[in-house]
Amino acid sequence: MKYTCTNHLLLVNRHHPLPESCTAPDLAVISPEFPSIQIQSEAAVMLTDLLRTLHAEDRIVPVSGYRTMEEQKQIFSDSLRENGEEFTYQYVAVPGCSEHQTGLAIDLGEKREEIDFIRPDFPYTGICQTFRELAPQYGFVERYPKGKEEVTGIAWEPWHFRYVGCPHAQIMTEHGWVLEEYLDYLKEMQLSEESGEEEQ
Ligand SMILES: [Zn+2]
Repeated sequence: MKYTCTNHLLLVNRHHPLPESCTAPDLAVISPEFPSIQIQSEAAVMLTDLLRTLHAEDRIVPVSGYRTMEEQKQIFSDSLRENGEEFTYQYVAVPGCSEHQTGLAIDLGEKREEIDFIRPDFPYTGICQTFRELAPQYGFVERYPKGKEEVTGIAWEPWHFRYVGCPHAQIMTEHGWVLEEYLDYLKEMQLSEESGEEEQ
């Protein structure tokens, strides 16, 4: 079976590494100011649109987008050296298991003089919160919310957004589901539909 990274619901976490056959997605920049930060092209269009709608182009900046396996390895080993094991395993995905390798994830930061590359500030107030509230309408969800650490296996990350597309993002937000929970729900729906068909 051939996988592609264009499946917007592709699950990548420590138990689900990026399939090896998954090729790099078509990428696009979000802002000409940050030409090195790219995400999957449809996600980039939606994100640019959202930032424009909020007049937030100068207040919210992209910090990290698509990463190759090599880049993820580099970030992981740099963090191990600089921040130690505990921090790294909490905030940096093991190479092969990072959502950033799908091109569907973006770390965002409120524009500051200095922006932390691994943990940028993205508060629950002001323009960042307005962004967060509107994001599902543009297909984005806050991927690692507080309280879901056990489900996602990743610490609370207010800055990490994931493109899942519409209407998935709205449904997930409405129910308070993270991607793992939403995929379980879809699977159950499918199973009950299949068993329903058999009964008829
Ligand atoms: Zn991230």
